[in-house]
Parts: sequence; C-alpha cells; structure tokens
Amino acid sequence: MDPSPTSSVLTCTQCGGELHPDEGQIFLTCPFCNSTVYVDKSRVVFHWYVAPTLDEAKARASLARWMSGNQTVKDLDRKSSIVETSFAYFPMWYFKVRRPEGGEEIRMLPAAATAVSEIAHLYLPAGDLRKYESELDAQALAPTVPLQTALQWMESGSGASASIMEQSLVHIPLFTIKYSYQGRFYTALVEAATGGVFANIFPAKAEAPYLLAGGLTALVYVCLAFIPVVSGLAEGSDGAGIGLAICAVAGLAAAPALFALAAWVAAKV
Ligand SMILES: [Zn+2]
Repeated sequence: MDPSPTSSVLTCTQCGGELHPDEGQIFLTCPFCNSTVYVDKSRVVFHWYVAPTLDEAKARASLARWMSGNQTVKDLDRKSSIVETSFAYFPMWYFKVRRPEGGEEIRMLPAAATAVSEIAHLYLPAGDLRKYESELDAQALAPTVPLQTALQWMESGSGASASIMEQSLVHIPLFTIKYSYQGRFYTALVEAATGGVFANIFPAKAEAPYLLAGGLTALVYVCLAFIPVVSGLAEGSDGAGIGLAICAVAGLAAAPALFALAAWVAAKV
C-alpha cells in the first residue's frame, strides 16, 4: 500500500500543471491549458470524444444495410424486428502504437463491459477526436476496465507495450440496437460517427448448403471423369470412346440440375 496516497501529484498530460480532482471525480478539464483529461487511479490521460453524425433513423438505416448484406441470413432486414434502441457514449482505450516494422497504428479496446467485443475492430480517423465536454456526462458510460488492464491485454496480444506512443480515453457515440429474429434476440452496435455495425452473434448465412451443393457438383464430375477410364480398361479403345461419349452426355445433362441446385441454395439461404 502506498504510504501517502494523497501526496502523489497528478499533472496534466498537456501542460504539466497540477490537477486537484474532487473526490471521485474522473473527468476533468485542466484549469491551465483547458485540456480534457481522464484520471485513472494515479494516471492522467487525454480524454476525447467523437461527435455523432447519425441520428437514430440513420443508425437504423445503417443496420438495415448490414442486415441485407452478405454476412447475415437472407432478408434479415425484412424478417427481423427492432425491439429496442438506446444511445450512449461508450468509453474506449485508445492507443497509438509504433509498429516494429515502422509506421504507426491505432488500437482500441473497450473500457467498459460489453457483450459485443467486435467493437475493438472500430476504425477511428484521428481527425475526428474532439475534447471531451462535460455536457456529455449524462450520456457517457464511465470506464470500468482500468487502463492497466487494457495495457496488459495489449501486451499479451502483441508483446509491445514499450512501443505505445500515446494512450487516451475516447468516448464514442454508439447506438445499441436489440432485434428479434425467429424468436431469438440479438444485439448490434451502430457507431454513430461512421455508421459502422458491430455484432458478435447474429443470424449468419449458413455455409453448409453451399458446401453441400459445391461438393455434390465436384463429386458428379469426378464420377463422370472415371467412366472413360473404367470402360477403357474394361473394353479397350472402343470402350474408352463410348465412355467418353457417355461422360459428355451425362455431364451436359447434369449441369442444369446442379446449376438449379446452386441457384436454389443461393435463393433460400
Ligand atoms: Zn493542462
């Protein structure tokens, strides 16, 4: 235990000025340089937010586009119904990291509990960061994942904590949209600056029917290719000729059926 925890001086990340947050105060503005910072135990980091550009209707439209895309089950946009939509500024730890091979990249980790860990794949253009404003407090979720924990995740993920050039807290605007499909409930996040959609679990397009149709097609043609070989072995060169003819006819006959199967699978799934 730190013998004198109150003696540790918190200083502004930007200007080095001494900060004196009130008991329990985590979001503050530096009185000297006006930077917005977040106090995580004894650490002070910059605190940013990203302004939303999408309202609820546009966020729902983004979700509908994602639902009609290739990842999800066919016609999910029409067959699902939205149960609940809520908005909050969600906290993310933001790291600017120097790559071992040169250059830098941004990595983000959720700073609060979320069922949708996919949010870590959020892409955030650096130019979009704005100084956090206290007016957002009512809609902003407080971080519950300590910075230290996020740093440990980063290390275990890449072993490169030494190359972190910048770390800060960013509140991103997020719509949480719950929807139901065939009696089950799902959650999708729509990031309200770019319209990006994040979901861990969703009604996915089934792969199996595609694999089955493709496999069946391959099997039919492999079998057909064996006919001239087998008949050639059995009956000499005449047999091979007959086998080849059977193969060609059967192959042509099978093609529309297999094509129809593939089309049916594509339409159905
Ligand atoms: Zn300052």
